Amino acid sequence: MKGLSRLKIFILNNKCLIVMLCIMILLSSCLSGIVAYSVSNQNGITIVLDAGHGGRDGGSVGANGTIEKEINLEYTLALKEKLVSAGYRVVLTRTGDDGLYSPTASNKKMSDMKARFEIIKEANPNLVISIHMNSFSDSSAHGATTYYRDGDDSGQQCANLIQASLNTYCNAPTETSKVGDYYILNCSYYTAVLIECGFISNPEEEAKLNDDSYKDTFVDAVFSGILLYFGNRLT
Ligand SMILES: [Zn+2]
Repeated sequence: MKGLSRLKIFILNNKCLIVMLCIMILLSSCLSGIVAYSVSNQNGITIVLDAGHGGRDGGSVGANGTIEKEINLEYTLALKEKLVSAGYRVVLTRTGDDGLYSPTASNKKMSDMKARFEIIKEANPNLVISIHMNSFSDSSAHGATTYYRDGDDSGQQCANLIQASLNTYCNAPTETSKVGDYYILNCSYYTAVLIECGFISNPEEEAKLNDDSYKDTFVDAVFSGILLYFGNRLT
């Protein structure tokens, strides 16, 4: 009882302070909703990381059942950790399993892609990286490939650097980056690279992509390519 009356007196004496605190909490939760999942900003460079697919859109299914949307998110979150520790501001289009479409939308794919575009626009990034896994009817197809929008010169530079790094560290074939006609590349004028990390339709590559130490090596290679890209632009 004594404790309760002290609490009452505290509340009465500090009404203004409590109201101010509530307003601040409310404001901060509203503001954090403007750019979903934004973290860190020490070097002034913003990168949007886009884990492909989500929710009812699982993407490709691997030879041994890997669900693309799930592994895309794992690679995206691992890359986020590295970029945040290096001082980049990272904005994620999704952090969980859910897609970004409106539940009432008749065309959920378009609704999902438009929501990704809105996040990109709001983030005003220096670079967009979209993470996917590939699939093909010929199960021997393998290797990581980077894509950029036709005419996006800086996207091509960045894709080339990431591709070279992947070729060196991840035993990818001697691939070159390619022009890709993907919504996430075409939806804005921002520099953007889409990475098809490998073929989950190839059982060997699927196993490799699910291996934690391979994931670390792969993400390190992508991270190195990104560091080189921004390093080159500063010199
Ligand atoms: Zn995909």
